[in-house]
Amino acid sequence: MQETKSTCPYCGVGCGVVIEHDGAQITGVRGDPDHPANFGRLCTKGTNLHLTATPVVLQHQRLREPAKRAARGATPEVIGWDQANREIAERLLAIRAQHGPEAIGVYISGQLLTEDYHAFNKLARAVIGTPHIDSNSRLCMSSAVVGYKQSLGADAPPCSYEDIELADCVLVSGANPAWAHPILFRRLEAARGGKPAHKLIVIDPRRTETAELADLHLQLRPGTDVALSHALLHAVIARGWVDEAFIAASTTGFDALQALVADWPPARAAEVCGVAEADIWRAAEWFATSPASLSLYCQGLNQSSAGTAKNTALINLHLATGQIGRAGAGPFSLTGQPNAMGGRESGGMATLLPGHRDPGNAADWAEIEALWGVQGLPGRRGHTAVEMFEAAARGEIRALWIACTNPAQSMPDQATVRAALERCELVILQEAFAHTATARYADYLLPAATWGEKEGTVTNSERRISRVRAAVPAAGAARPDWRIARDIAALIDAGLGRAPRIDADTAEDLWLEHRAATRGRDLDITGLSWALLDATGPQQWPFVTGGTPRLYTDGRFATPDGRARFIARSFAATAEATSPQRPFALTTGRLRDQWHGMSRSGSVPRLFAHEGRPLVRIHPGDAARRQLTAGELVRVRSERGEVVLPLALDGNIASSGADIAMHWGDEFIGAQLGINAVTQGAFCPDSKQPELKFSAVAIEPA
Ligand code: SF4
Repeated sequence: MQETKSTCPYCGVGCGVVIEHDGAQITGVRGDPDHPANFGRLCTKGTNLHLTATPVVLQHQRLREPAKRAARGATPEVIGWDQANREIAERLLAIRAQHGPEAIGVYISGQLLTEDYHAFNKLARAVIGTPHIDSNSRLCMSSAVVGYKQSLGADAPPCSYEDIELADCVLVSGANPAWAHPILFRRLEAARGGKPAHKLIVIDPRRTETAELADLHLQLRPGTDVALSHALLHAVIARGWVDEAFIAASTTGFDALQALVADWPPARAAEVCGVAEADIWRAAEWFATSPASLSLYCQGLNQSSAGTAKNTALINLHLATGQIGRAGAGPFSLTGQPNAMGGRESGGMATLLPGHRDPGNAADWAEIEALWGVQGLPGRRGHTAVEMFEAAARGEIRALWIACTNPAQSMPDQATVRAALERCELVILQEAFAHTATARYADYLLPAATWGEKEGTVTNSERRISRVRAAVPAAGAARPDWRIARDIAALIDAGLGRAPRIDADTAEDLWLEHRAATRGRDLDITGLSWALLDATGPQQWPFVTGGTPRLYTDGRFATPDGRARFIARSFAATAEATSPQRPFALTTGRLRDQWHGMSRSGSVPRLFAHEGRPLVRIHPGDAARRQLTAGELVRVRSERGEVVLPLALDGNIASSGADIAMHWGDEFIGAQLGINAVTQGAFCPDSKQPELKFSAVAIEPA
């Protein structure tokens, strides 16, 4: 047996794994005891990773050969790489010539490795010349990105996982790490076991498994997080718990924020949020007066039409109390995907450029042109995820190149997304798995290598860069994502009569280009190399002469004047409201043992043991009032569409709330559009992240 160290491809915890194999077949997996994220532990998904690479999965569920559809709806016919690459390049060149480069959109994924991101970024902006490149990380972390940038000056989570052990008070807001970040939850459980005075506060509309552990659960109404954060700050100010010295030395804008939160006494927020006033005072006291307070937050704050405001309101609380830049203290955004961070670092999104540069800044574009040796880059921000599919549905985008993601299941407002895919004259899908909903719309299917088969790097939530390593050959004719992008890019460049603009023979070549773009930036990794990662293990950025576990320890922030900014943003209602016609506030979330659209985790039967079918959950009282019973089929209907599902009664859901796990696509819900038939595309004006956590729905007998 051979062993190869790599990382888990599921969530942003970024656990290290040891892949057991014989050089041809993966036979087992275990946690890497040397990896500082997990120290050998794995959750259920990670423990079963090797079962996603069995001979049966490799043969029947993987996309193994390039294929082409003669017409939409036709059975794909296997073609060779040469033919696929040549035809795709010719068709993209034709669309580009007739309609301009902006008629082409590139939609990628937080599952890709940093090197893949870098290749796609160059493919879109330098080779095709389109500004329209975005990632499914838009659905995941973009509100956290903008929140950090607005408040602290840079998209940089300031904390480390070890802060979970060092904190005296942990506030979990809009997150359920017990299911979505299980290894971090185990670290939290263990830390509490050794600290009798430890306080855990959970803010969540559902009584989750994380909330079960809490000393205090604030079960707020969905969408009222900003009001609650303002009230917590009001209480902190009223009781004199602010850190005046820190505010004076390290921040700006406190007076305006103080005036804003004066209108949010806990009594008012208690009514708006549906929580007890005394609990707001108690939470404020624990957070402000504990020696070190850490917040952990995720999609409950991010997937919102007020996502940025929710993030900055929480960061305000840290700044006002000086709970930042110290061991065990700080606002810690938990990333959803394994390499959402790497995508942000390499700038493979419409609102980002490499090295945390800004596509709204001409000087930043000029720096990238110099780094890439290319003139005439698009020079402006492109369409973000929802905007890109809306533009395709209008016929403005005529070709979509999609890699490592399944928008025909995961995007909100599926009717618009599917109309976009149908209207596009060319859909290219680069995927590891053969049977995703998006595959049905693809004109060309390109098989991609995946976990255990490819080389590169990822960055986890604590800014830690880990190596991803190949243990076995790729399934069938599958190739690394960066190579697929590079090869077609070379043909496009040749068609335009110029030298290849993605000039890389290996993933490491691409990483070195990425590294060069970080020089002098907040995420500078110019002291790092693959050789160093191989020799010393995963490292946290910035890394010039050594890694950095914690940011802003000197009270200086990444803003031009070195001061963090208090952001005074008013509470705003959700994009749509419940009504007598649609009285339920629907949220979507994760199951413990599944991942995203299940293209990988769905290949492991035992991962369905925890929950084996889609359900809509509501409070038993709501069901009784409507004479609905557990198990009966109900129609969940929003303004955009409907799904029919069995009903489950769950006392952990607040009254007038409803919950459906995000994972179920149309193959599980009959001839429909999956659960995102009902969710909405309305998004935060700053982050462009859609409001997947709130849709007004009716629930009626089917
Ligand atoms: Fe993988 Fe996340 Fe589980 Fe770790 S916690 S094993 S990274 S899914």
